[in-house]
Amino acid sequence: MTPTTVYKEPAPRVANTENPLESMMSRFNVAAEILGLDHETYEVLKAADKQIIVHLPVSMDDGKVRVFEGYRVVHNTILGPSKGGIRYDKNVSLDEVKALAAWMTWKCAVVDIPYGGAKGGIICDPTTMSAGEIERLTRAYTMSMKDVFGPDRDIPAPDMGTGPREMAWIMDEFSKTVGQTSSAVVTGKPLVMGGSLGRTEATGRGVMVSCLAAMNKLNMKIEETSVAIQGFGNVGSWTAKLMFDKGLKIKAISDISGAYWNDNGLNIDDVIAYKNAHGGRIEGFPGATPIDPDELLVSDVDVLVPAAVEDVITEHNAPFIKAKLIVEGANGPTSASADPIIYAKGISVVPDILANSGGVTVSYFEWVQNKQGFKWSLEMVTDRADRIMTDAFEKVFAVSQKYDISLRIAAYVVAIDKVAQTYKYRGGY
Ligand code: GLU
Repeated sequence: MTPTTVYKEPAPRVANTENPLESMMSRFNVAAEILGLDHETYEVLKAADKQIIVHLPVSMDDGKVRVFEGYRVVHNTILGPSKGGIRYDKNVSLDEVKALAAWMTWKCAVVDIPYGGAKGGIICDPTTMSAGEIERLTRAYTMSMKDVFGPDRDIPAPDMGTGPREMAWIMDEFSKTVGQTSSAVVTGKPLVMGGSLGRTEATGRGVMVSCLAAMNKLNMKIEETSVAIQGFGNVGSWTAKLMFDKGLKIKAISDISGAYWNDNGLNIDDVIAYKNAHGGRIEGFPGATPIDPDELLVSDVDVLVPAAVEDVITEHNAPFIKAKLIVEGANGPTSASADPIIYAKGISVVPDILANSGGVTVSYFEWVQNKQGFKWSLEMVTDRADRIMTDAFEKVFAVSQKYDISLRIAAYVVAIDKVAQTYKYRGGY
C-alpha cells in the first residue's frame, strides 16, 4: 500500500456506531439456533443475572464533589464465580457493559475455565484525572460493590483505562471491608502483591498464539506475512512485540495520536522505546509515515488485528478489507452487520471471545496461585496458557468445520453448549 492520506488532526476515539449488545445478541441467536437450544435455556442464558448502577460522590482536587456513574453487570455464574474487568472511559454505557459481561461468560466457556462472566465500568475520563482522584473513585466504587465482589463470587480485573494500580486499590479496599487480606478478590494486581508472572502480556500473547494457529490452517508462512495492528495500549503493544519477535512484519500500528506505516516493517522494540520516552504516544516516531487511521483497517496487509474499541469494522469498511485474516484483540471490534460481508469475502476471523481470552486465562492462574498461596514460574504460566489457547482454537476450528460455519459462530456454539449443558445439570427453580 502507498499511503495516500497524510494524517493531520489528532484522531478522535472511534465512535461506537452500533450497539455492542445487539451485535453480541445476533451472534448468540445464530449459535443458539445451530445448537437447537430450548426456549427455557435460551431465556436463562440471554439475560444478565444482575445489573448494579451506582452513583459515587468523589472529592476532586479543586475541592468540589463530582458524582460518577458506575456499573457492574454479572451476566452469568453457571460455570463459577463471575469474572471480568472494569473499564474507565468517558463513553462507557450500560448496554456496552452488558455486552462485555456476556462476552466474558462466553470467553471463559470457550477456554474452559471455571468462571461465569461480568464486567464493570465507570463513566469518567482517567486521562484528565489526578492519581488521587482516580484512587478515591476506585475505592468508592469498590466499597459500593463490597457485597458483589468476592474471591468466590465476582472477581474484577483490568480493562480499558485501568491496570495493576487500580487493582491494588480494589484489593486493599475490599480487604478492609472483610477485615483480612483478600488477594484472590481481584486479578491483574502488581507482581509484588500477588499478581501473576505473565499477566501483563497475557492477552497479547494469546492473540499472537491464536493468530499463529490460524495462519497454520491457512498455510500462511511467518516470514511472508504482514500485519496491521489498531491500538497500541496493553493488548496492541504486546501483540505487536510478540508478533515482531516471532518474525511477522508489522507494517502498520496506531494509537490515539494517529496511525503509522512502514512498508518494510516497523521495529517494534524501537516503537516501544519511543512511546515510553514520549508520554505514551507514538506520534513523531521517526521510523514510520503517518497515515489516515481509517486507512489502517483497509490497508494492504495479510493480517489485521483490531486491538482498540468496539465496532470499528462495520458494513461500511468491511467490503474494502484486504487482509486474509482478522484476529480480534479488542472485545467486539466487528459489528454484526459486517459478519456476512467478511464471510462472503472468504476472510477468516479469530473472534474476540477466543483471540483475546489469554488475559482471563492468566487471570485464572493468578487466582489459583492466590488461593494456593504459591507462585508459579513464568514458564509454567506461559506453557499452560499457550496450551489452553491452542486447544481452544482447535476445538473451535473443528466445530466450524463440522457445521460449515465461521470461527466466530463456532466459538459461540462451543461456549453456549458448555454453559447450557452445565445449566441442565445444575437446574433452576
Ligand atoms: N478485561 C479483560 C477481558 O476483557 C480481562 C478480564 C479478566 O482478566 O478477568 O478479557
